Amino acid sequence: MTFKFTKKAAAITLIAGLSAYNHAQAQETPKPPKMVPEMTEFWEPEVRVVTPGTGAAAPSDAIVLFDGKNLSQWKAKSDGSEAKWQVKDNAFTVGKGDISTKKDFGDFQLHIEWSAPDEVKGTSQGRGNSGIFLQDRYELQVLDSYDNRTYANGQAGSIYKQHRPLVNVTRKPTDWNVYDVIYTAPRFKEDGTVFTPARVTVLQNGVVVQNNVEIKGPTEYIGLPEYKAHGKAPITLQDHGNPVSYRNIWIREL
Ligand code: MG
Repeated sequence: MTFKFTKKAAAITLIAGLSAYNHAQAQETPKPPKMVPEMTEFWEPEVRVVTPGTGAAAPSDAIVLFDGKNLSQWKAKSDGSEAKWQVKDNAFTVGKGDISTKKDFGDFQLHIEWSAPDEVKGTSQGRGNSGIFLQDRYELQVLDSYDNRTYANGQAGSIYKQHRPLVNVTRKPTDWNVYDVIYTAPRFKEDGTVFTPARVTVLQNGVVVQNNVEIKGPTEYIGLPEYKAHGKAPITLQDHGNPVSYRNIWIREL
């Protein structure tokens, strides 16, 4: 009898070969162990304990930048001399140039409270204007935006001229506004170009006004933002010529 190598025989031979190969593979590859709950539970390192503050008080691991007493954590931005803003009644008030923290920061959580001047004076950008410059470059606007129309990306809670606040939740002058800021610093490549831009989330009086927005570069009064590489940098408060007050400032490095 002669064996004829037909197409059918070829197919049978191929299937048999593959089957043998798969069988061998199955025997060589160890099966993953059966999953049990403990396999996805991580115990180390243990999560650090932080004691929360009561109300808006600083949590135990915060750096207190102003506790109502003095400006020892701040300096004049222009020349690094003593910060000369007036401290009174557990708050301090804008005057005599911008001030910056003595310490530099990267990623952080910042709590800061501000109040527009008691006397309602001026309109638009001229009323209760100050600002919180994150890393000395990116302004979170402070403005008396209570019944005071201005350009949307320049009102309280805006990232100045980049992102309007989602809502206007500004309290009237003499009442205190609260900003809680979660900030991620930009990262730069070795050649100085941007690897990842800065991002920020802002709650004003407990309401989200900036939701993880991308900062496009330093906030400019005139012109478009353009990043320049930098490292850690201070928080700077703006003297815009209006007597805005600040109190209860603390920061947590992330
Ligand atoms: Mg301003």
